[in-house]
Amino acid sequence: MLAENQPANGGTTLNTVYGFIGLGNMGAPMCANLVAAGMSLRVFDAAGTAERTPQGAVVGDSIADLAANTDTIFLSLPDGKVTHAVCEEVLLAADRRVSRIVDFSTTGPEAAGAIGAKLGAAGITFVDAPVSGGRAGAVAGSLTVIASGPGGDVAQLSAAFDAVGGNTFHVGAVPGQAQAVKLLNNFLSATAMAATSEAVLFGQKFGVDISTILDCVNVSSGRNTASADKFPNRVVTGSYDAGFATALMTKDVALYLEQVRVAGTPENIGAVVSARWNAALTDMPESDFTEIYRHIAGESKTGE
Ligand code: NAD
Repeated sequence: MLAENQPANGGTTLNTVYGFIGLGNMGAPMCANLVAAGMSLRVFDAAGTAERTPQGAVVGDSIADLAANTDTIFLSLPDGKVTHAVCEEVLLAADRRVSRIVDFSTTGPEAAGAIGAKLGAAGITFVDAPVSGGRAGAVAGSLTVIASGPGGDVAQLSAAFDAVGGNTFHVGAVPGQAQAVKLLNNFLSATAMAATSEAVLFGQKFGVDISTILDCVNVSSGRNTASADKFPNRVVTGSYDAGFATALMTKDVALYLEQVRVAGTPENIGAVVSARWNAALTDMPESDFTEIYRHIAGESKTGE
């Protein structure tokens, strides 16, 4: 039995209280897994906290309330603008207790770098920690956590990262490096989804059944995350319920392209894929990202 304040879980003490802001598709199930791992959690969501709070977590009143009553705050917010605004509110909070913020959101390297610098100047450590694996991975606790920030902090967070994910990669010491890896990953996922939609439509035009196409591709060299997972589980079933909005995927691909242009690396395929997702979002603003198949097939509002 550990005495009070004796380090457990690599630097976490028994009195450590974690905060979580953003209880959406990803945040709510991640919170449930943190609570299940025995962590003391206080949570907040601007759209209504009580109804989104998993059993065992404490309902927080506001961002200031979490800043004053927790040691480490996790974020799972829509984009860098919102993360920035939430961090500003933390900095303005009276009686601030929090000393570390960990951002699970996809915000892009520039936003993560700027937020890290601002928090660092105020004595708050920032760990950039975007995740991959979708809502299903968040529910199962099998997300990939891509972290960049001080190695000691990432090590201290290992119990929390293990609770939400199966794999943690510490890709560098600087906030923003993890976002770069997350964006390139989502660009590949977005490309697979768009390209597989076009490829499947081509095969269907020749009268081949969609499941037969996928079965063949999935034991052949064209296999990818869309053909192996999203198509059989979300498109063929007609459920279109991956839990990741077209708006968020379009944001990620646009951020990727923007940052590729800043980096000066090749952008030919990035530009085409980003244009494809922009068109899908205009056509289907409230859709799940797997519905790009319906957009490309011309089944949606305007189609192609
Ligand atoms: P979501 O829109 O379902 O959840 C975001 C939550 O943040 C909402 O509940 C919203 O009310 C809350 N929020 C917004 N502004 C707030 C504020 N100012 N203060 C407090 N709460 C606020 O989004 P999501 O799908 O859960 O994604 C969250 C992040 O994770 C995004 O950056 C996304 O790109 C990333 N991501 C999503 C997935 C996925 O499959 N859904 C996978 C990997 C990464």
